[in-house]
Amino acid sequence: MSTMSRRFGAYDVTMLRDGVVQASTDHLVHRRGEDALAQARARIGSFPLVVNCFLLTGDNGVTLVDAGCGTAWGADFGKARLALADLGIAPQDVDRVLVTHLHGDHVPGLWEDETPYFPRAKILVPEVELSFFTDEAARQSVPEARRSGFGLAAQLIKAYGARVQSIPHGPVLDGIEAVALPGHTPGHTGYRIGAGKDGLLIFADALHLAAYQPQDLDLCLVYDLDADAAARTRLALLAAAAEDGFAVTGCHIDGYGRVEREGHAFRLDLF
Ligand SMILES: [Zn+2]
Repeated sequence: MSTMSRRFGAYDVTMLRDGVVQASTDHLVHRRGEDALAQARARIGSFPLVVNCFLLTGDNGVTLVDAGCGTAWGADFGKARLALADLGIAPQDVDRVLVTHLHGDHVPGLWEDETPYFPRAKILVPEVELSFFTDEAARQSVPEARRSGFGLAAQLIKAYGARVQSIPHGPVLDGIEAVALPGHTPGHTGYRIGAGKDGLLIFADALHLAAYQPQDLDLCLVYDLDADAAARTRLALLAAAAEDGFAVTGCHIDGYGRVEREGHAFRLDLF
């Protein structure tokens, strides 16, 4: 179990490891076509995909960014709950949860059956994400295999009712800004903590393969609902991180990193 703590801005940030899955290259797609995809598959082989959520502690109490799988993915996942307990944080201590997007490795940890796992917490969901995944016309527009977010939105609202609140992009809490990172889902959102070199962008699922996607900017995952938008978002955030020097991490990245330009692309150095 990994609990990597760092100070960024006004918050102590702790990565909570929810689990890890050995993913096959069937999960990859490539915007430059079949040859590029075959080359990427040969280069990468199968790869470990970690699942993280984050604990932020500061003057305003206890905030989570996402909540992992809970019991939805079986006994190898949901370990973020144990990591929180190990840190002495009980479910009732959590004041609020910032949601990055409505996928099955990010939000089922918020409930158990129809009961909220965090009995006092407000659940803050980016309004673009919440309105998309509660819209019937949007549901019909998405391939069936990619519709899980609609069921998850319904479960979330059933468990938390009016404590589910939609938030705009921009400042959301003292020293935390919600950043639109569309592509993986329409309302996919990162959270920027602090500023400049002392700051951190939790970019959620804008990048899954730290060793490959910064160099191969057209490499995407099948779970990116709009791969073109996801690739544009990834390029823009890597360029901004290289330029401004802020640190980055994600829900599927094994640590914290900094981005450097390398040739026409980038390198993500974990620290
Ligand atoms: Zn994910």
